[in-house]
This record gives sequence, structure tokens and C-alpha cells, in this order.
Amino acid sequence: MTHAAPTDLGNAKDTGATTPAVELSGVSKRFGDVVAVDGVDLTIADGEFFSMLGPSGSGKTTVLRMVAGFEEPTSGRVLLGGEDVTGRPPYARDVNTVFQDYALFPHMDVLANVEYGLRVKKIAKKERRERALEALDTVRLSGYADRRPSQLSGGQRQRVALARALVNRPRVLLLDEPLGALDLKLRREMQIELKQIQRDVGITFCFVTHDQEEALTMSDRIAVFNEGQIQQVAAPAELYEHPATDFVAGFVGTSNLLKGEAARAVFGRDGHVSIRPEKIHMTAHGAAADEPPRASGTVSEVAYLGSVTHFGVDLDGGGHLTVLRQNLHGSADQALSQRGQRVDLGWADEHVITLTPTASDPGSADPAADGATTP
Ligand code: ATP
Repeated sequence: MTHAAPTDLGNAKDTGATTPAVELSGVSKRFGDVVAVDGVDLTIADGEFFSMLGPSGSGKTTVLRMVAGFEEPTSGRVLLGGEDVTGRPPYARDVNTVFQDYALFPHMDVLANVEYGLRVKKIAKKERRERALEALDTVRLSGYADRRPSQLSGGQRQRVALARALVNRPRVLLLDEPLGALDLKLRREMQIELKQIQRDVGITFCFVTHDQEEALTMSDRIAVFNEGQIQQVAAPAELYEHPATDFVAGFVGTSNLLKGEAARAVFGRDGHVSIRPEKIHMTAHGAAADEPPRASGTVSEVAYLGSVTHFGVDLDGGGHLTVLRQNLHGSADQALSQRGQRVDLGWADEHVITLTPTASDPGSADPAADGATTP
């Protein structure tokens, strides 16, 4: 795979490096009785690959549309490059949006599609052409200028849509689930490419997705949305290793959450307590081990996934944990892979996380969990 050299498409980086590209201050949006976005504060740095992650209906697209200017906040302010743009229409904002359905013109070839925005802005033909060809080079589609969209694959169409937005040299590129229509393999390839393109051009990317793997793969930072509010903003590793709430722990990975009596019995802690599946060592019950087991239980589910196997373990002390093991030894692990197998579990204390209960979680009434934070 060849990669384009850094281009000047990302001129936004040259200006005001310390001014955030996007700032939302107390932004809410109501549609009748529905509170789609509920008091969101957010700062996205210049040149950052920022993702908004959350389940369907959590408000992330509405936030993106307010940044683009397609929706006006019911309350709060939107700033771009330090300037208040709250009441401004989309065309008066230095942003471009790439949608999931690409919205390419079928009767125009690729070059004409990419040039279109510049034509509307009455940019002279020579410059238009140069910038469009440069944008096509950035998305590795130099040889495709004469094709019609119908003569391209899904991934190529997606890249044309990206070139069409990049050619305008926006300060911020907004991407609304742009990989949603691609199959899994292509999606993974495009995730890597998108990140590389973003690094090349240096433009701030603000990316909406409900796919946690996609967000972890590409982002500098991720905001996790639930019910119109942001639960946590953090870099991918921080989000995964130190989720702040039950919701984040469950949405980004497998949370392995134990509460109340089970948490006390297994972890010796009160509140909502969690450990990631790959942080647990599992051995056959009674087998020699360096450390005494932390808990014992019975394998109740086995899911073989090729490189790893997921084990569901019913704990003797109450509760259930998922354990993930890499399939390093093939058949040597098969003894553990029987439902009903008795097993011992161990872990290091540093991997045990105490979570803040999510407000809408019925279990959050547990007073013992109040004020809990990561260790
Ligand atoms: P998805 O991943 O499904 O796109 P999302 O997290 O992007 O979901 P939004 O599209 O922002 O969520 O929607 C948030 C809430 O606002 C939902 O309950 C949705 O039904 C509601 N909503 C969004 N747009 C409108 C609208 N134009 N009129 C009424 N309700 C709306």
C-alpha cells in the first residue's frame, strides 16, 4: 500500500494551534418531548481524530448535526476555531460532512464529483482541477478520475466522498458512520486508511460511530454517549482500562460487572466492581499455580473464536465472569473447554476496577457504590 506524502490540505493546522477546533458549551437539543442531547460540554483539539461513540439514539448524530449547522441547539453554544457559530447556517461554517450514503452524483465522473464543491464556490478551472486531483491522490484514487460512481466498489465510493469533502480544506471534517455500508473486512481496511489519511492532511476529524472497535482503532480520543449525555471522554486505552461508569465498561468491551454480595465475595470490595476478561488467569481446579486462586467456579459456556476462546464461569461465591484466553497451545487448552469443568481464577489487584453506577441503571440505587472511582 502506498501512502500520499503530507499535503497542504490541512491548512487548518497552521492557524491557532492552541485554539480548540470545536467547543460545545452546555449544548442541549429537544425535539418536542424528546431530549436528544442533554447539556453536552466538549472540546476537540485542532488536528485531533475525535470519535463520538454510543448506542442508537444516544444523541451523537444530533451533536454532529449541530456542529455542522443542520440543527440549532435548544440551548448552549457551538464554537469553531474559537468563534461562536451557534446561529450560522452550514455553508457559513468551516466544516464539511461525509455521510454514510456518500451522496455522490451518479451522472458525473469521479473528478467532477470531487470538483463540485469548488465549482459552486466559483474557483477557477485550473485550480479546481489541481485541488481535485490532489484530493484524489490523498485518498489513493489517482487512476479513477474518469470513472462513474457505479463503476467503483463501496470502499472506493467512500473514498470519493472523502476526497469531495477534503478538497474544500475544511477546518473540521464531520463523518457520520461513513463506513457503515461496508462489509467487515473492507471496513477494517478503511479504518486504518482513514486514520492514515487524517494524519497526512492534519484536519480535525469528528467521527460518529456505534462500533466500539472502530472508535478504538482510529481515535485519539473518544466521547461515550448515553441518553443524550457524555459518560466519559478519554483516549482509547484509558477508556478501556479505566472505564468511569458501568455503561462505559459494558459498551466498550465486556464489563464483567459484579455488584453487592457477589462483589464482596469475589473482589472483597463494595459497589460495582469489574475486571476485563483477558486480565483473568484460568487454570484447572486444584492445579499447581504460583499464587493461590482468587475464586473458583464452573465453566458454563465456551465460545471458540479462532485466536481466542471466551469462557463463561459461574463463580462459587455467586455471580458470573467471562474469561478470555488466547489459543496459544491448541489442544493443551481443550481440557478447560468442557462445560462443567471446575476451574480456579486469578488476577492482579491493579486490574480490578470500581465503577460509578450509571444514573439510569436500576442497580445504581446501591448506596455502597456511591462515589466509587477507579483505583
Ligand atoms: P443512531 O446511531 O441510530 O444514528 P444517534 O446516537 O446518532 O443514533 P440521534 O440520531 O442523535 O442518535 O437521536 C437522538 C434522539 O433524538 C433519538 O431518540 C431520536 O429519535 C431523536 N431525534 C433525532 N432527530 C430527531 C428529529 N428530527 N425529530 C424528532 N426526534 C429526533
